Amino acid sequence: LEGEISKLGRLNIVGQLAASLGHEVRNPMTTIRGFLQMLQSKTDLLAYKNYFELMIEELDRANLIITNFLSLAKNNKSEVKRLNLNNLLDNLSPLLIADAYSQDKKYFFQPGNIEEIDIDSNEITQMVLNLARNGLEAMAPNGCLTIQTYMDDYSIVLSVRDEGKGINEENLKKLGDPFFTTKENGTGLGLPLCYRIAKRHRAIIEVFTGKDGTTFLVRFPKLSEN
Ligand code: ADP
Ligand code: MG
Repeated sequence: LEGEISKLGRLNIVGQLAASLGHEVRNPMTTIRGFLQMLQSKTDLLAYKNYFELMIEELDRANLIITNFLSLAKNNKSEVKRLNLNNLLDNLSPLLIADAYSQDKKYFFQPGNIEEIDIDSNEITQMVLNLARNGLEAMAPNGCLTIQTYMDDYSIVLSVRDEGKGINEENLKKLGDPFFTTKENGTGLGLPLCYRIAKRHRAIIEVFTGKDGTTFLVRFPKLSEN
């Protein structure tokens, strides 16, 4: 428990700093992105087009990092609506297909027959994107990421399964620690955010991993269990 408290304490300090910094940094980034897009459309040189593409991608990545920081920072109330998780995942499909495609990987969504639950769409969207992107990043080209939903007696389950390299025992213990990352450009903020969002939804996250890949299960309590 002591470990948990100091982890959260660290998050709060980082969060407050990130919140103020993030807002200030975002506005100029939006301006830069706009002009980059304009210049990109004006040039005929393919090489330059690619440079602009890269710049915009990197800017978007920086923006995502800020989004994650900001989400960890704010502790406002969830905006909960009763809905079917499949609808939210349907809306995310085009984005995830594009993400997968850009890395030469595949994405499948297999919706199951599930009951509605109370969720904050923004938060769950962020959680799904973080889990899915981790899955995609863990895989070699041609790998397949599968999101499924199903339900059992007590819970509505969201499953995010990849065919990646798996997580070794040592790293498994650090999963969810703020700033734990094995990636050169990682932030180590994605999973802490996922755990936080799950907790706010009274959901639990289970991890199964092996040499054939990793599965994250998010178990939401059924409404009848509340
Ligand atoms: P980041 O993605 O920025 O590294 P995360 O908090 O999202 O931060 O993930 C932390 C670490 O957990 C990753 O760097 C990686 O080592 C490990 N990890 C998370 N998801 C997976 C996965 N699906 N397969 C393998 N490793 C994973
Ligand atoms: Mg991540």
